[in-house]
Amino acid sequence: MRYLIILLLCAFISCTLTKRTSKVIDLKLEVLTDSIADIYASSIIKKDLNKDLSILASDEYEGRETARPGQKKAAKYILERFKEIGVSPGAENGSFLQTFTVDAKNASNVFIECNREKWHIIKDFYYIGNLKDVEHKNIELVYVGHGIEEDGYSDYKGKDANGKIVVINDGVPEKSKIKHSDWSSWRKKVELAESKGAIGVVTIKQNYLEGAERIQGFMENPNMQMHNPGRRKADLIPNIYISDSTAKTFLLKINESKISVKVDIEEELTSDNVLGYIEGTDLKEELVIITAHYDHLGYDNGEVCNGADDDGSGTVAVIELAEAFQKAKNDGNGPRRSILFMTVSGEEKGLWGSKYYSENPVYALEKSVVNLNIDMIGRRDDKHEHDNYIYIIGADRISMDLHLINEKVNERYIKFELDYTYNDQSDPNQFYYRSDHYNFAKNGIPVIFYFSGVHKDYHKPTDDVDKINFDKVQKTTRMVFYTAWEIANRDQRLRINGIK
Ligand SMILES: [Zn+2]
Repeated sequence: MRYLIILLLCAFISCTLTKRTSKVIDLKLEVLTDSIADIYASSIIKKDLNKDLSILASDEYEGRETARPGQKKAAKYILERFKEIGVSPGAENGSFLQTFTVDAKNASNVFIECNREKWHIIKDFYYIGNLKDVEHKNIELVYVGHGIEEDGYSDYKGKDANGKIVVINDGVPEKSKIKHSDWSSWRKKVELAESKGAIGVVTIKQNYLEGAERIQGFMENPNMQMHNPGRRKADLIPNIYISDSTAKTFLLKINESKISVKVDIEEELTSDNVLGYIEGTDLKEELVIITAHYDHLGYDNGEVCNGADDDGSGTVAVIELAEAFQKAKNDGNGPRRSILFMTVSGEEKGLWGSKYYSENPVYALEKSVVNLNIDMIGRRDDKHEHDNYIYIIGADRISMDLHLINEKVNERYIKFELDYTYNDQSDPNQFYYRSDHYNFAKNGIPVIFYFSGVHKDYHKPTDDVDKINFDKVQKTTRMVFYTAWEIANRDQRLRINGIK
């Protein structure tokens, strides 16, 4: 599950849209009247859940960070399990993988050599701004004072900056006649240099260390964004800052110096959702979607965040559910509606995988009847003194049928204490917006988010397998199974609130 981003505005809007209808017609479980479902529910066992989770949440999987090798490895593991179970590839072109592009930035990939001596990032230089990738070799330098030009005054007078890298002083000259105060903006100076034909700017910075320290965190943390073709492109020429002492060491004879600059920040990576599919019998156009995210945070200061609970627990539940439904299908008891078992990535970065799927659905969203999303089901939170509970979030917001089916399944088979604390729309945690079901809910698809709460190891390297309560994971997975079985097999599709 992802960190809270304040979405109170959304919460307010949804309040006005999804008030619970007051007249509720009772609903009967249509299908769960015989014992066929029990055969397959009982195939969901903690030993299998434990086996898969011990692998996926081991250090070898490097915390499964989106677009990194650990995520790729986890995708391969899940894909192999789907193959072994016998479910069909659920993505396009006979593939189990739905792959999306991720724009990453490796901010420390700026390389400078001056007079054949390497400059070290942070120690000798840093940069500011959204630099575009470039490579310039053996470029001449030209010193242009403070790099300022305005009515009746120019630091560029008599200087040729064309095709060169200009060296300037930070700020404005003391006791100067400069009229415009905005020369303290680096952007204005860089724009002027560019208009003079310069291909880069080196600024000699007072208080160098202060600036370098501020920028260090950014250099050390590669960041990622979901690929968005409309995003502002990196367009800045190299905008480099050096200290007085770097200037004195390397740039004493500035007119005889040559500098090479290589900026190689932009990285295009990919990430994957893993999709297994069981085709329904007579209602196969309609689809039940079961999800969990298999990505997690990667490393935290050199330690692997294994994400056993978040969301290894949901991931292995989805694998076991695929196995149970495939067994049923093999016995001739396959579901009437089709079922998509989808483990997504990019969740911790911002629900990317489910967002990508909802914008590029493999199966029509109008025919997708429900999303059952499992995220963190293996632990107990501080608010409970026993393990026999589950938080149910979102079930009644779009379809009261779904809410009632879930309650009846629980009453008959599971007997959890159903905790609706986080379903309250005014709850400050706003969990409804914080996992992948939200990308289905916002498209009008009924959802349930199954959740056992946060704990002291949440988003820490200590979220490990040995702390998982597998009885609870087994019980929750069976709960999802019975609900999915009922929804996939009943005559009537779940009704949307307010729509007859
Ligand atoms: Zn998380």
